[in-house]
Amino acid sequence: MDLAAARARMVREQLACRGIRDERVLRAFARVPRHLFVPDDFQAQAYEDHPIPIGEGQTISQPYMVALMTEQLRLQGHERVLEIGAGSGYQTAILAELALEVFAIERLPTLLESAQRRLQRLGYSHVQFSAGNGSLGWPGNAPFDAILVAAAAPRVPPALVDQLAEGGRLVLPVGPSDAQMLLRIEKHQGALQREDIAHCAFVPLLGEAGWAEHD
Ligand code: SAH
Repeated sequence: MDLAAARARMVREQLACRGIRDERVLRAFARVPRHLFVPDDFQAQAYEDHPIPIGEGQTISQPYMVALMTEQLRLQGHERVLEIGAGSGYQTAILAELALEVFAIERLPTLLESAQRRLQRLGYSHVQFSAGNGSLGWPGNAPFDAILVAAAAPRVPPALVDQLAEGGRLVLPVGPSDAQMLLRIEKHQGALQREDIAHCAFVPLLGEAGWAEHD
């Protein structure tokens, strides 16, 4: 199977055709080898138009959803970005292509370790990882120009809004477990502008400012 051709087709048919316009975002998706972020038995499906299980009941999001969230951050290259719910590390790699520094948090240590290994192997050196509950952000490295949350929260976690820089953008899914709204929140002189982007369905954000953990 020609994975490079499948990746180019994904960029054209799933992203560009559906309205992803930012050239830097499209180039990042053309570069990052998504097939290295899915379990071996799913490699042939890596460039298909759907989420894929990555173990521990979690999923790597559909390419279009990753692109839509990324585009909404409006990255130009100089930003410090916080990512919550790193999972496979695919979204982390995309962010690393587009920003100056990436801080990625994942609560499941096994996923975190494999994400970290993949990013290292691919040569992304400006990414820092942390294991734990990202719903509280990463206060020691705040403020962030952009924050992306890849798991659904019942409401916007206040710590994340606090950790946004002036002009910063926060993109996250908010709502009940079966159907959420993807929001973009922008901070200007302390005031928040909020925009609904799209309906979506993510795995839950667990922990203090997310949903209660049952295990
Ligand atoms: N962007 C990821 C998608 C991962 S799915 C990818 O490209 O693969 C969402 C992830 O959020 C899961 O790995 C889950 O373990 C993680 N997660 C859930 N609640 C979390 C929390 N409070 N802090 C950090 N990570 C969390």
